[in-house]
Amino acid sequence: MSDYQETIFDRIIAGEIPCHKVYEDEQVFAFLDIGPLSEGHTLVLPREKKAFLHELSEEAAAGLGRALPKLCRAVKEATGAEAYNVLVNSGESAGQVVMHVHLHIIPKFPDTGFKMGWNAGKLDDERAERLVGRIRSNITES
Ligand code: 5GP
Repeated sequence: MSDYQETIFDRIIAGEIPCHKVYEDEQVFAFLDIGPLSEGHTLVLPREKKAFLHELSEEAAAGLGRALPKLCRAVKEATGAEAYNVLVNSGESAGQVVMHVHLHIIPKFPDTGFKMGWNAGKLDDERAERLVGRIRSNITES
């Protein structure tokens, strides 16, 4: 946590700034996004103070993983959305503005929700094998 700087989300979790809270447990805190892309747009945070998903402890990650399906179910049921996106912006150039890990649950309706370009390339087998080699050798415990 050495270079972690407190964010507005830490103040929300601490109750210093109001929010529309959806859920909390020992590991997780969830509330409605103040600038929703659609009705029910919800932010799900670990209480752990980390900027990026890849920095989370196993405990915090497990807590997020446990809470996420039930929160997706609840948001889907409450809004009547048939579909939804779960999104993590990790890093400034990926669109992250608040530097405390958070997942967006964004219900999808015909005219609202998350829109993205999907500029798919083609996977080359040789490059793929080299790549998986590098990825596998970089898989470490947190
Ligand atoms: P990011 O771009 O970092 O993935 O998303 C940050 C999100 O936090 C944005 O969707 C923004 O609307 C939301 N947000 C920023 N400040 C506040 C706040 O004070 N309260 C709430 N509820 N949401 C916020």
